[in-house]
Amino acid sequence: MAPVEFVPLAPFTSFGVESTARYFSSFKDSLELEELLDWGLQYSLLILGGGSNLLLTRDFDGLVLKNEISGIIELHEDNEYVYVKAGAGENWHRFVLYCIERNWAGLENLSLIPGSVGASPMQNIGAYGVEVEDLFWDLEAWHIGEKRIVTFTNNDCRFGYRESVFKHKYKGQFVILNVTFRLRKQPRFNTSYGAIEQELEKMGVKELSIKAISDAVIRIRSSKLPDPKLMGNAGSFFKNPSVNKEQYDRLHDQFPDVVAYPNADGTYKLAAGWLIEHAGPAAGISWKGFRRGDAGCHERQALVLVNFGKATGSEIYQLSEDILQSVNNKFGVLLEREVNIV
Ligand SMILES: Cc1cc2nc3c(=O)[nH]c(=O)nc-3n(C[C@H](O)[C@H](O)[C@H](O)COP(=O)(O)OP(=O)(O)OC[C@H]3O[C@@H](n4cnc5c(N)ncnc54)[C@H](O)[C@@H]3O)c2cc1C
Repeated sequence: MAPVEFVPLAPFTSFGVESTARYFSSFKDSLELEELLDWGLQYSLLILGGGSNLLLTRDFDGLVLKNEISGIIELHEDNEYVYVKAGAGENWHRFVLYCIERNWAGLENLSLIPGSVGASPMQNIGAYGVEVEDLFWDLEAWHIGEKRIVTFTNNDCRFGYRESVFKHKYKGQFVILNVTFRLRKQPRFNTSYGAIEQELEKMGVKELSIKAISDAVIRIRSSKLPDPKLMGNAGSFFKNPSVNKEQYDRLHDQFPDVVAYPNADGTYKLAAGWLIEHAGPAAGISWKGFRRGDAGCHERQALVLVNFGKATGSEIYQLSEDILQSVNNKFGVLLEREVNIV
């Protein structure tokens, strides 16, 4: 099938900024994908999932391919685990709910993260003390250059904090087709992170279950994060930066309230939200709730950059650049963007 020309991309990304794809098509399996890649050999390529971790700063003068590979299959099970394979185009949250309904445990803390199953290993999505790598078994991906399917095990993906080989070593080389997860038949509840326990208490939960944890996470997330349908955003715009012990001690001496968590390797992970909130565009002004035109930072979470209506991708990008500079000037810490910039 021939791709469509000049397609507006605003409805396909959670920031909702204007951008036009020179060519656009969706694909439902690896055969369709292969045909489209052959067709568009000479064009630059953008693979799109749910568009919830993407900032488009210009028109895309190439081929945009939206992954719509669907299907969820229970592959096999053993005494402890069930192995579940999901098409990369499946909606992540719907997949999580599908597993919870069947009492397959592990994904409940990752409820309500927007986007597709296929993008989940890209940045090893994580929330409330759980990361995709904890449940990931393997994935199949299309090698664009070699025109063949390659399997990646957990080890092959080299997962890290919001990292995988697909963001660096193999950037732009693979299209993820499906992901298999290894889920527990007997749950191991993880409620120690964030406000899950308080929320469960508020909900009056007497008997803990993966459904109750999922509901608690959904309630917390809905109260904290702007709904992209109502206000364009891509969740956390920056990663939480890690610093070594000396840097942390120096920062802590100067700013005793700095929010940080020790990493297993002796470094400290700083809360990017705190750093941004305590820096600002000028003395006495915080980034939290800041607005310039239609680009800004959310009023409850400075780490979430938002499109109040008609902001362009480059306006949001420029704001992120100014935030980055101000944090570096005040704290000597260089933030790294989590959102993919195109
Ligand atoms: C309100 C909100 C809250 C969020 N909260 C969290 C959170 O708690 N934790 C977290 O980790 N993230 C969070 N995110 C970020 C986002 O939801 C995840 O990164 C998600 O996995 C992105 O999925 P997507 O399908 O929308 O990817 P897209 O935005 O479509 O794509 C992201 C990148 O992956 C590439 N890509 C997508 N699919 C494929 C594929 N099949 N094969 C190869 N490359 C592909 C794209 O080219 C792009 O570079 C949040 C976002 C929002 C809007």
